Amino acid sequence: MEEIRIRSSKHFEFIDVTRDIQDIVRKNEIKEGICYLYVPHTTAAITINENADPAVKNDIISTFAKIVPWNGNYTHLEGNSAAHVLSTVVGVSVVIPISGSKLALGRWQGIYFCEFDGPRTRRLIVSIMGE
Ligand code: ZN
Repeated sequence: MEEIRIRSSKHFEFIDVTRDIQDIVRKNEIKEGICYLYVPHTTAAITINENADPAVKNDIISTFAKIVPWNGNYTHLEGNSAAHVLSTVVGVSVVIPISGSKLALGRWQGIYFCEFDGPRTRRLIVSIMGE
């Protein structure tokens, strides 16, 4: 198990971590297996989506802001309920197959750490199983 630190710089941000994760897979010399990514936070998440056209991630972020408004009718006193909701909607883990020492991502797929209440320093746990 490894952990990487992610420093978000915005309140709402998708950070592409694909290369960092692929480097860990390569360094561990795993040819076939699975890579499990876990976010130990309640106001952040992880997802996989297109990383070729940056407009896609911007559209996802602007849609999230519309469907889960920051200033909604919430009761949580900390004032960041929208971030908690989005963490649960998006989810805090993904599993990616490893094949031929590479993440078996589709051509247009990238892995995004999703910051919903930044800027902060965050943790991402990387657990790799295989041989
Ligand atoms: Zn809170």
